[in-house]
Amino acid sequence: MMEFDRDFTLQTTSHRVRRLRELFSILLLFLPGFVAAQQQSTLDLRPSFSKRLPHSQVCGVVVCQSDIPLSGMQTILAEISQLQTDLKKYLAIPKANEKIELCLFSNEKTYLKFLEQEFPGAPTDRRALYVKKEGGPGIVLLQKTDDFEIDLRHEMTHAIIHASIHAVPIWLDEGLAKYFELKPEDRAFRNPYLSKIRFAAKFGAVPSLDRLENLEHIGEMDVREYRESWAWVHYLIHGSPQTHQLLASYLQMLAQRPNASSDKTAKSFPKLSPYLRRTINGPVADYKRHYKNWAE
Ligand SMILES: [Zn+2]
Repeated sequence: MMEFDRDFTLQTTSHRVRRLRELFSILLLFLPGFVAAQQQSTLDLRPSFSKRLPHSQVCGVVVCQSDIPLSGMQTILAEISQLQTDLKKYLAIPKANEKIELCLFSNEKTYLKFLEQEFPGAPTDRRALYVKKEGGPGIVLLQKTDDFEIDLRHEMTHAIIHASIHAVPIWLDEGLAKYFELKPEDRAFRNPYLSKIRFAAKFGAVPSLDRLENLEHIGEMDVREYRESWAWVHYLIHGSPQTHQLLASYLQMLAQRPNASSDKTAKSFPKLSPYLRRTINGPVADYKRHYKNWAE
């Protein structure tokens, strides 16, 4: 808990965040989504793939299933529980009201075989995959590699967010996943993107948030777009109490959009940038100030 507080360096902001959470709590009482969250105990948390993945364990709304015993993975499974709490506690992301299936494979061979049988047509050139069919649970498929823990946190961030929020702009979805893919104690200061972003900001280079907000598909996200999305997420989380509150409010607004809407194109989302311009006097200068001053 202490590590987490230090990670977010939010001690000075905590009263604002607390006030925001309290406000959300009051609002949520009157929303249908809250009723669904309250009914979480009625969720069917039985594993769907127990024949091929016989070892299972429930962590919150996450049903972990594996082809090898989970006894050696208790630390990372505890982190998954923590990730659910982090996203809810620090970004006011509503509690998930549906289950998430996490399928872990000991090697590439069993992973690919499972994909072929359960998800024919799914891309086979990735180490991990997040699948969500309309109306069904989010499913994270993951093979054990050297980057297993980073992949797991990254994909689980997507899954946890989407279990609460129907649609999220691609830049924010990936920016949050890149932020939360590191261990809690490394997120604020030890992301490999930080030095490049800080160096660029020192010379006045600020990535265009408008350009990121107009991206439509995952295919448009390359190394640059992931890095720039992360940079804006980091600024929003750590820049000031106002930017942090704005990000939480924006996610809350996305969560309250009707589930029936299947239009996930960039133009269908309310954009964050106009709210940012209204909240912060000169967000570009404020972004530069944030990275100029950001040091452990
Ligand atoms: Zn991703």
